[in-house]
Amino acid sequence: MTNSAPITQDVHTIPRKLPEGGKVNLVGLTREALRDVLIAHGTPEKQAKMRVGQIWQWIYQWGVRDFHAMTNLAKAYRAQLDEAFVVEIPEVVSKQVSSDGTRKYLVRIAGGHEVEVVYIPETDRGTLCVSSQVGCTLTCSFCHTGTQKLVRNLTAGEIVGQIMMARDDLGEWPVPGAPKDETRLLSNIVLMGMGEPLYNFENVRDAMKIAMDGEGISLSRRRITLSTSGVVPEIARTAEEIGCLLAVSFHATTDEVRDKLVPINKRWNIEELLNALRDYPRLTNSERITFEYVMLHGVNDSDEDAHRLVKLIEGIPAKVNLIPFNEWPGAPYKRSSNNRIHAFANIIYQAGYASPIRTPRGEDILAACGQLKSATERARKSRKQIEAEAGVKN
Ligand code: SF4
Repeated sequence: MTNSAPITQDVHTIPRKLPEGGKVNLVGLTREALRDVLIAHGTPEKQAKMRVGQIWQWIYQWGVRDFHAMTNLAKAYRAQLDEAFVVEIPEVVSKQVSSDGTRKYLVRIAGGHEVEVVYIPETDRGTLCVSSQVGCTLTCSFCHTGTQKLVRNLTAGEIVGQIMMARDDLGEWPVPGAPKDETRLLSNIVLMGMGEPLYNFENVRDAMKIAMDGEGISLSRRRITLSTSGVVPEIARTAEEIGCLLAVSFHATTDEVRDKLVPINKRWNIEELLNALRDYPRLTNSERITFEYVMLHGVNDSDEDAHRLVKLIEGIPAKVNLIPFNEWPGAPYKRSSNNRIHAFANIIYQAGYASPIRTPRGEDILAACGQLKSATERARKSRKQIEAEAGVKN
């Protein structure tokens, strides 16, 4: 993969592919698109807005997939819906549970491709690490996903479907009429799974807007964090069109080192990236930018690196998340020692920035940061073949 990745990715939004039997999958449609397909399949225009609200609630608030169970709709209309539509989410191929409670799911999407999704339970929250691409456009050298060529972008339905799949597994769908239970097992979303989310902007945006919608899954935008490796032209759009929190895969303090660790740096270097972050439309002290920094032994973990990092992010409301490197088969790096990581964290902290050290979770099931990879390979088939399979029109 050349590192001068093009700004516009040719793997574009997957048009609504008619699943088996030619029915339209409603999962992932925005409210506007849902209204359009309902009208296109016979719902009277003057009823459409109300129907969108009812169907939306059934799918995203109650987690109902069977139109016949949508009891506030007339029986005949339910049958009509069942004729034309389905409510489908990615299929769970396997689930592994780590000794620390972390769950890793391998899910299958259209075309038989597979992606990994990770659920991390903590005392005060439950975080789902969501994937946005099969493989990745980029080749960050510390990341297992980076060794998997991009196969395709996920649709909005396949992205929000990961949240729905996890809620199924956690049994987190409320029951209509039951007293409202505010506690949530799945309270936070991080777009830190497989893929570069900003190279699949429209689908990620639509999926997160569905997840944030107050009449459905209703996750607060401040509980959603999108992590980018530095696709500079799309950074401001994230604030304007999604409004979630932002994290940056930073990982180095010189262009020379970052070019190796995060090759997109050759496209937009540290200075360009920092300028885009200083201009981030939602930059406030209460919504700081998270700088993710993987701790690699002898590569980026010196005291000089720590002092340089503080200098680079000066003036940006930020926190620095230190990630002890999680090794994977064939990984070219080693994790920094605990003493080194704490010394590094202390320099950042003394400079006035929160510098939490991320606790590796799910290492025993290769679920920790940077360890995700699915078996779906692009090698065997051309992109055209794979996109044809997944219904991508060129
Ligand atoms: S760190 Fe993110 S952008 Fe880089 S290769 Fe891994 S998944 Fe892709």
